[in-house]
Amino acid sequence: MQESALAIHSTFDIAVIGAGIAGAAAAYFLGARARVLVLEQESQPGYHSTGRSAALFTETYGLASTRALTAASRSFLASPPAGFAEHPILTPRGVLLIGQEADRRAMAAQIDAFRSYAPGVRRLEPSEALAMVPILNAARVGCAMLEPDAKDIDTHALHSGYLRGSRAQGATIVLDAEVESIARSAGVWRLTSRAGTFEAPIVVDAAGAWADAVAQRAGLAVLGLVPKRRTAVIIDAAANAAAWPMVMDLQETFYFKPDAGRLLLSPADETPSPPVDAQPEELDIALAVERFEQSTSLSVARIVSKWAGLRVFAPDKALVAGFDPCTDGFFWLAGQGGYGIQTSAAMGRIAAGLILDGALPADIASFGISAAELSPGRFR
Ligand SMILES: Cc1cc2nc3c(=O)[nH]c(=O)nc-3n(C[C@H](O)[C@H](O)[C@H](O)COP(=O)(O)OP(=O)(O)OC[C@H]3O[C@@H](n4cnc5c(N)ncnc54)[C@H](O)[C@@H]3O)c2cc1C
Repeated sequence: MQESALAIHSTFDIAVIGAGIAGAAAAYFLGARARVLVLEQESQPGYHSTGRSAALFTETYGLASTRALTAASRSFLASPPAGFAEHPILTPRGVLLIGQEADRRAMAAQIDAFRSYAPGVRRLEPSEALAMVPILNAARVGCAMLEPDAKDIDTHALHSGYLRGSRAQGATIVLDAEVESIARSAGVWRLTSRAGTFEAPIVVDAAGAWADAVAQRAGLAVLGLVPKRRTAVIIDAAANAAAWPMVMDLQETFYFKPDAGRLLLSPADETPSPPVDAQPEELDIALAVERFEQSTSLSVARIVSKWAGLRVFAPDKALVAGFDPCTDGFFWLAGQGGYGIQTSAAMGRIAAGLILDGALPADIASFGISAAELSPGRFR
């Protein structure tokens, strides 16, 4: 990449730390109006959480504010600008949520709440759910809900589209550039990395599981972000699996979904972890298999591949976007939890709006999203 032939000392308007989906989207939406630098510690920008997701777009997942951010991202992901990606970013999938007979009332209440951002959501009879995914264990399906408009996301195409588009607008993306120190003087941040030293008056902390650590390097107090490990395994698929929706239980103790001719299973684990290169634990792999086998008529003969990644949560589980109220020029873009891919377009546009205009884009605010509920100031 051109980016490695660095000027050792360069000045930009905005330095984004982290080139996962959050940093890439921010760079893309900032790039038309600012000189943007992106610094990424790894040699592959999607190496951490962004490259390890289940690649689902669902408007029924997470807090109401998260569901609103997902809904506000739909139009960009469904119809990106010409040339952004070679193939559609979103393709049909659907989500089937299943519960026990005793969960009927809770599920009905959820369906009502979900309809504000996912109007197509509907209750299914257990028999309809079993007809849709015939491997399901009938004893485990006492009630069911379908979100027909949930989609698969081509995460690689989306992430590459943001990065390619950023470069086309003039952004500089430097890989193998862990930001080791950050200091502010005379209104400018100086960032040092083994790839060089850079200056910008505004820093965007999009460092994923390391966002608190990056803030500490800049002398800020942490927000209390907690990375939580989640495990995924790939198994050989049953015949006709490709058309199934993703299946998840109401309590989120497991899910499975068709994935490139196979099935992706997860025990939906949420084990707190330091910010590391997450690896799958044998116990979580065994749980993924056990819960899948209990919920279906299949037994798992072979695990094709397995991985783990970190989902990073703020203390209130809502996403974070905004300037730190205690330090000039330090913008947090963090706590993307299990929703960072599907919310990336709205979050990138929110970052650009707050940094360049001091306000959310009006169409995003019309989803009921406020700057206050995303602000890091709620933890100060
Ligand atoms: C199993 C699993 C399933 C998931 N399923 C979904 C899903 O279906 N849909 C969805 O929307 N989301 C899903 N997620 C969540 C999603 O993957 C994350 O929310 C998202 O990838 C977070 O993006 P990010 O850019 O914040 O973090 P990351 O992708 O981790 O990027 C942060 C980057 O910052 C870099 N960095 C850190 N410190 C420094 C430093 N000092 N200097 C320079 N660079 C630094 C890191 O190297 C990293 O590349 C899932 C996650 C997991 C693990």
